[in-house]
Amino acid sequence: ESGDIKILLLENVNKRAIEILHGQGYQVEFLTGSLPEDQLIAKIKDVHVIGIRSKTTLSQKVLEHAKNLLVIGCFCIGTNQVDLEFAAKRGIAVFNSPFSNSRSVAELVIGYIIALARQIGDRSIELHSGTWNKVSAGCWEIRGKSLGIIGYGHIGSQLSVLAEAMGMHVYYYDVLNIMAMGTATQVATLPELLSKSDFVTLHVPGTPETKNMISTKEFEHMKVGSYLINASRGQVIDIPALVEAKKSGKLAGVALDVYPREPGSNGPGLFVDTLNSWTKELVSQSNVILTPHIGGSTSEAQTAIGIEVASALTKYINEGCSVGSVNFPEVDLRQPSYEERGCVRILYVHHNVPGVLKTVNEILGEYNITKQFSDSENAIAYLMADLANVSEQDIRRLHETLEKTNERILTRMLY
Ligand code: NAD
Repeated sequence: ESGDIKILLLENVNKRAIEILHGQGYQVEFLTGSLPEDQLIAKIKDVHVIGIRSKTTLSQKVLEHAKNLLVIGCFCIGTNQVDLEFAAKRGIAVFNSPFSNSRSVAELVIGYIIALARQIGDRSIELHSGTWNKVSAGCWEIRGKSLGIIGYGHIGSQLSVLAEAMGMHVYYYDVLNIMAMGTATQVATLPELLSKSDFVTLHVPGTPETKNMISTKEFEHMKVGSYLINASRGQVIDIPALVEAKKSGKLAGVALDVYPREPGSNGPGLFVDTLNSWTKELVSQSNVILTPHIGGSTSEAQTAIGIEVASALTKYINEGCSVGSVNFPEVDLRQPSYEERGCVRILYVHHNVPGVLKTVNEILGEYNITKQFSDSENAIAYLMADLANVSEQDIRRLHETLEKTNERILTRMLY
């Protein structure tokens, strides 16, 4: 029953999430802060769902006490604060919200493009210290200029639409063949993109393949007087090479939102201390805009995160759907037929070893299995099956039998 589901929400998660979860009839406890480990252990003992942001650590030690926990919602992008592998082993799915802030990042990049083209950062710094310096040399409209987008995913493609609306010509490079938005053009190679673009912006994931993907060789392909923007991941640009390109005049401007190593909290000087070697050289250059990883930091993105994660939690609790989970096999069956009378949906999380499906299907085989799907990821597997014409007595019996199977991690019955 939905009224039996207990949810603990920490760290002031967005109120839209609370509304959605309340709307389902769940019992929701909401705290504005995070909890120290001992209090977290005490609280996590009897909840079915916990919602956190980045300051709550769900370590193996904490999760060992979570006897009823079914699912964790990270109301943020990162999931490093959760021991994902241990959670999976305990049959606890973890969800986050990787794409809710795409629009916010795309808008920030539009801001950078205009700010760089008009040297707004430098003029503002000068005037803050009292210098009136009216300049038009080296300042441009962005209309008619070319924008090269590296990585045409959620953010890159949003940006493409916004940039075209302001009269830019958009080129993009991606490892996948992706349908262009508007009149943008996909190019086949990175050098081709770099040589065509007045502005280059990176929107790729941080992977071993993208580490230092813009370095000395790539700067050689770029136009003299072009601009480089990175609001993706810090490692994708070789910063000492970037400093050289800026000093030489190859680059007319740079905007960075992300860095190879970033401070863990707000505060003066941290940024400079952490990044030491090249920081001073970078900040002494003209037309360099640096922001502290704020690409996704808007109210709208927070609301979208609240809605996305709360909806994923609801779908997992009510339907068993694990699509979008970061540590679980992604399993779903469309149209939950278990909502019809006499139907039951079986959710069975088990160790990923040979022979389990044979055992389970022998148990389910007596019934009419109307739908079934299973998938595995690393050490665990997840099976979902809808059965028709099952009496309440049979549901209890099936549950008991499945619970006794050797490789079972978790069994849930929805009816
Ligand atoms: P996404 O997964 O939707 O898109 C990434 C695209 O990059 C995909 O189309 C993929 O095919 C492509 N790609 C992967 N490897 C590539 C390679 N080697 N060369 C060319 N293309 C490659 O991701 P997204 O949501 O658009 O996010 C893009 C980046 O922005 C990520 O690194 C993400 O972490 C970062 N991000 C930053 C902020 C911020 O606050 N600054 C906020 C959100 C996301």
